[in-house]
Amino acid sequence: MAKRFSVSINKSWCKGCSLCIGICPKKVLELDDQVKSEPARIEDCIGCRQCENVCPDFAITVKESE
Ligand code: SF4
Ligand code: SF4
Repeated sequence: MAKRFSVSINKSWCKGCSLCIGICPKKVLELDDQVKSEPARIEDCIGCRQCENVCPDFAITVKESE
């Protein structure tokens, strides 16, 4: 079975720069109406952690979930 992941965004730290959205190979992330990153298609996440690594504000945490 395919692994599943959770992507948590600390919205108080996110400044809406969109770097994570641009780097995600699966187009999982989008800006919400507060201009904060949000995992809009979490079911497509492959857990590559590129979003976590690119975020200059350390606002993203990727975890393997059940
Ligand atoms: S890279 Fe970080 S600060 Fe920029 S939009 Fe994504 S979560 Fe927010
Ligand atoms: S871990 Fe990879 S696939 Fe998942 S949201 Fe981040 S960049 Fe996209």
